[in-house]
Amino acid sequence: MGRKEKFVYNIHTLTYEKLVIPFKTRLWQAFGFFSVVVVTSFALLALLYTLFPSPREKELVREIEQMEYKYNQLDGQLGMMSKVLSNIQQRDANVHRAVFGMDPIDADVWNAGIGGHESHPELAAFKYGGEAVGATLEKVDMLARQLALQSKSLDTLQDLANNQQKMLASLPSVKPVREDKLQKSIGTLSGFGYRIHPVYKIRKFHAGLDFPARVGTAIQASGDGIIVETGWHQGYGNCVKISHGYGYETLYGHMSKITARQGEHIKKGQKIGEVGDTGLSTAPHLHYEVHYKGNPINPINFCMDNLTPQEYQQMVNSANMANQSLD
Ligand SMILES: [Zn+2]
Repeated sequence: MGRKEKFVYNIHTLTYEKLVIPFKTRLWQAFGFFSVVVVTSFALLALLYTLFPSPREKELVREIEQMEYKYNQLDGQLGMMSKVLSNIQQRDANVHRAVFGMDPIDADVWNAGIGGHESHPELAAFKYGGEAVGATLEKVDMLARQLALQSKSLDTLQDLANNQQKMLASLPSVKPVREDKLQKSIGTLSGFGYRIHPVYKIRKFHAGLDFPARVGTAIQASGDGIIVETGWHQGYGNCVKISHGYGYETLYGHMSKITARQGEHIKKGQKIGEVGDTGLSTAPHLHYEVHYKGNPINPINFCMDNLTPQEYQQMVNSANMANQSLD
């Protein structure tokens, strides 16, 4: 028997009649059956995908995990950079305080954060990795702001330094006789303080430093300034006085020759005359004094040119020896 046929008993005609199902009904039945199959398949597939992610999903999850790891790494590196920058800022602040007596950046301004996810609201919607990205971006923002602050602070430092340059050039800071022209054979250089006077043979206050050198050795201005005195002084012989401004003056004595003119503007290192033995002097040398607001101060603190710390210490030791001065 091929196709199954259904028969229905008709009670009116009392015969078996072949059952005929209309085509429309058959169509609906088929549609219903397929609908159930499709819905069931989708439900099953959805369940499978939930339990077993697709290779593409697995790949994406792996990528997100790696990205999070990288962001955390980046976050750590940014933390380090932030520390280095803070250290630079600290040193900058020290320079500001030491040289200019002021702090460059307000600590509150420096440390101010922009505040979590508020600065990146789009990340709040991120389901995965949003926090790591947000924290990193926050650090980048802060670092950028601090770099801008630091850069501005260094500009101020440079401006201030430029203004101080005039003062630094003016202050006596080099020896009045070049190192290579000094007579090292004599070695001792007579310092500031009480010394036996070579002529009077009594303890007398020696208000300057003696630099032994050959007659005719060039004497240089120890800082920028104006020549305020040139001429003869009974004790100092031929002498020159320079006003450097800011309360500082320098005096050069026992010169054999004066080449600077009164009222002349002079630059640091410029020749003003030559070493001699004039006035109350026992050997050719330059007597050098530094005055601050009219009082002689120890010139040793103003002779720091081209000296290594050891050489400077040697010079200080030599000048401190209680020897006889040369004038
Ligand atoms: Zn002297």
